[in-house]
Amino acid sequence: MNGNGNFQNQRPNQFNGGGNGQKPKKGIGFYWIYIVLVAFFLSSLLFNGRPSAEEIVRSKMITLLRDKHVEKIELVNGEEAEIYLNEEGLKRYFPDSKDVTTRTVAYTYKPMSLDQFVEDIEKAQVDNPDAVDPKPVTRHNWGGEVLSWILPIVIIMAFWFVIMRLMGRGGMGGGQIFNIGKSKATLYDSANDKKTTFKDVAGLEEAKEEVMEIVDFLKNPTRYTKLGGKIPKGVLLVGPPGTGKTLLAKSVAGEAGVPFFSMSGSDFVEMFVGVGASRVRDLFAQAKEKSPCIVFIDEIDAIGRSRTKNSFSGGNDERESTLNQLLTEMDGFGTNSGVIVLAATNRADILDKALMRAGRFDRQIYVELPDLNGRREIFEVHMRPLKLGADVEVDFLAKQTPGFSGADIANVCNEAALIAARHNKEAISKQDFLDAIDRIIGGLEKKNSVITASEKKTIAFHEAGHATTSWMLEFAHPLVKVTIVPRGKALGAAWYLPEERQITTKEQMFHEMIATLGGRAAEQVVFGHISTGALNDLEKVSKQAYAMVSYYGLDEKIGNISFYDSTGQQEYSFGKPYSEKTAEIIDNQVSMLIEKAYSEAISILEKNKDGLTKLAEKLIDKEVIFSDDLEEIFGKRPWVTEERNFSRKKEDDVDEKSES
Ligand code: ADP
Ligand code: ZN
Repeated sequence: MNGNGNFQNQRPNQFNGGGNGQKPKKGIGFYWIYIVLVAFFLSSLLFNGRPSAEEIVRSKMITLLRDKHVEKIELVNGEEAEIYLNEEGLKRYFPDSKDVTTRTVAYTYKPMSLDQFVEDIEKAQVDNPDAVDPKPVTRHNWGGEVLSWILPIVIIMAFWFVIMRLMGRGGMGGGQIFNIGKSKATLYDSANDKKTTFKDVAGLEEAKEEVMEIVDFLKNPTRYTKLGGKIPKGVLLVGPPGTGKTLLAKSVAGEAGVPFFSMSGSDFVEMFVGVGASRVRDLFAQAKEKSPCIVFIDEIDAIGRSRTKNSFSGGNDERESTLNQLLTEMDGFGTNSGVIVLAATNRADILDKALMRAGRFDRQIYVELPDLNGRREIFEVHMRPLKLGADVEVDFLAKQTPGFSGADIANVCNEAALIAARHNKEAISKQDFLDAIDRIIGGLEKKNSVITASEKKTIAFHEAGHATTSWMLEFAHPLVKVTIVPRGKALGAAWYLPEERQITTKEQMFHEMIATLGGRAAEQVVFGHISTGALNDLEKVSKQAYAMVSYYGLDEKIGNISFYDSTGQQEYSFGKPYSEKTAEIIDNQVSMLIEKAYSEAISILEKNKDGLTKLAEKLIDKEVIFSDDLEEIFGKRPWVTEERNFSRKKEDDVDEKSES
């Protein structure tokens, strides 16, 4: 989760152990050590720092003795002499003081050497019959001594405390070590938090519709259970960071009025073996107690990464056991127990397949970067609490922020408010928003997801090229939509509706190749130069051409030969199953085929340059266009026939355009 809830000052309460929401008494177990430490320190000061008697020099000590003003001398630890005065001495030196008596130390003296000291005392009192003798005294500095062995222990304990603290970041309170196996889930309860509802989630219409069912179930579980219906236990939200996955999950809980446990996948993984699994267990135990409720696991890829990969490195046992525990828990609770697990990831492809199996996260909801409309709505949501100037236009701002995620837009709004405040303005103006956008782009540029205006134009023409060529070719897949909203590494995409066909003719394959090359051809036709953006297209076309020539026997020169090995074992082949000469022919035929397709694409686009330009402009403006828009520009496709059997489900034939 990108912590950008700028205007939702929700303070989650830590839900810690026990399942009863009790706040742990923080650190009592530790603070007494401070108290002891301070006590010892003070006491040692008291013992050491006797009432500050003045330290005198040798001559003064000799004078005191000679004048017979001394009551007694105590030599403490052989280091320091404490001198007590008699009545006369007191009268002479402390006439007004009541604090200094014959029983308190009047002066101290630090002799250089003991021999000298004894000699001095004797010499000063030679003619004195009642000469005082220094009395040796041993005195323990208890405070200091105890301190000297307590202190290392305290330091070690403090050190340990800090380490525990760091490992269990997120505040586990007092007896950290005993809580380490507890889940660190944060509980958002409708009772103590501002509710997040669908109103706070802008755009994402399709995703909202899909989660609606879950809300309905949580509200009226009996309606479903009565009919024997099963509600998914787990739903996976897939999409780039900051697109509102957490927000969506929270809003489901808010709409349904059920508690919401939130935890990040990385929270499960600790240095200690077995902690992750025990945290999973604890999390589900808590959740079941609060059922019906929603458990949200952010960044599930931290634990859900495919188990088979990296099996050599061996260091993944902990993560694996955590994952296994999660799978076990999800299998374990009854279908309609009321606990629904929502998980978020931006990489569904690396997740372990076992997670996706029926009864686990068998449903996936895609949460994409917002398009123009989505961005407008997100702006509107985040502008609600702001004081806007008259010149702020939401449409304009949405256009200025291609490639921004919901979190980025939330950030822009907040930043704009801060900028306006800095200038002591009454309301936030358009310029403040533009400055904020510049600032956010500065941050985003590092993440490499910002598109300049000229890049956007190139991408638009590229995608329009795909769209135009496929529209003009009888056997190319019909187009569903084209976007230039970046998603993942792709800068734009064209979706086609593949026909459900068991066999593909040579013509169909060729037309597909033309449409695939249409992107690069459009760049050539319009700008006169080509870019690196067509890498994916070229890869796809090359593979297809090689397949046509060497696998499917669709080339006249090669003839009806297939070099395809369906067993995949290559037992007999020491390399390629054809001669050098054939290899050369294959290469030639492939490159001829591709060049033919490319020049075909160029000629189609040159003939339809006006339409192409119109389309690209529309794309720049709207970012997403559908087949209706193409129809508006080019007219109806003459050969679309009703009998054709389209399959809706296979929409993943996405033509992606990778960055350089
Ligand atoms: P994710 O979990 O996908 O990384 P979050 O749900 O944490 O993203 O989103 C971060 C913040 O961005 C949200 O708190 C919200 O302020 C803002 N945001 C993101 N998407 C939207 C949206 N569709 N509508 C409104 N706000 C959004
Ligand atoms: Zn392309």
